[in-house]
Amino acid sequence: MLLNLHTHLLKKQANEQIIFNEIIPDSEEGLENFSLQGTDNWLSAGIHPWYINEQLYNLQLKKLAGIAQDPAIKFIGECGLDRLKGAPLPLQEEIFIKQIRIAEDLKKPVIIHCVKCYNELLSIKKIVRPRVPMIVHGFNTKIEIARQLIDKGFYLSLGGALLHEESNALKVLKEIPLERLFLETDDKDISIIAIYQKAAEVRGLSMEELEKIIFDNYLGLVGNV
Ligand SMILES: [Zn+2]
Repeated sequence: MLLNLHTHLLKKQANEQIIFNEIIPDSEEGLENFSLQGTDNWLSAGIHPWYINEQLYNLQLKKLAGIAQDPAIKFIGECGLDRLKGAPLPLQEEIFIKQIRIAEDLKKPVIIHCVKCYNELLSIKKIVRPRVPMIVHGFNTKIEIARQLIDKGFYLSLGGALLHEESNALKVLKEIPLERLFLETDDKDISIIAIYQKAAEVRGLSMEELEKIIFDNYLGLVGNV
């Protein structure tokens, strides 16, 4: 089975297990009408830093805390920090920390969106000291940052950037400990098979070996927190 850690699209290959991401809406109407989609899949749910409503974030958090109890929701997120887009950074940090606390209460791991905020992410982890595992998704930044994150216990999920020969993600793939690796398609309409094939080739594994490693990583997170 090909575990796709993070996707925004409700479509899948025959042998694929998706974790479909639900974004908590940023309008009153959206919050009232919100219901989980595709609960025959595994889900993640969170307040994305682009969609924090400065007037409504308490309602957004309340909605998240309510739905996050649903057993279909395996992860909290994506949530996190984005220096280039979204709410002011101090508010993003506050909402991110509150979502980590929800994850801690429910013992569900966190899927993180992080753009140019790795120092902030590392210091939040140091201050909050969550026991739940944290996965930085769509990682495609310098290898030095990957090393720091791995050293601090983070998992990394790599996606479409692996298909570009010069990408940072590909450099990270070459040296990441396999027990910290996940693979994903995110919002791109690409095949998870192509990503697994690339990763298997780079790490000198068969598809079956890689599938098992990634799925065991998932079981380790969701079963052991
Ligand atoms: Zn995403």
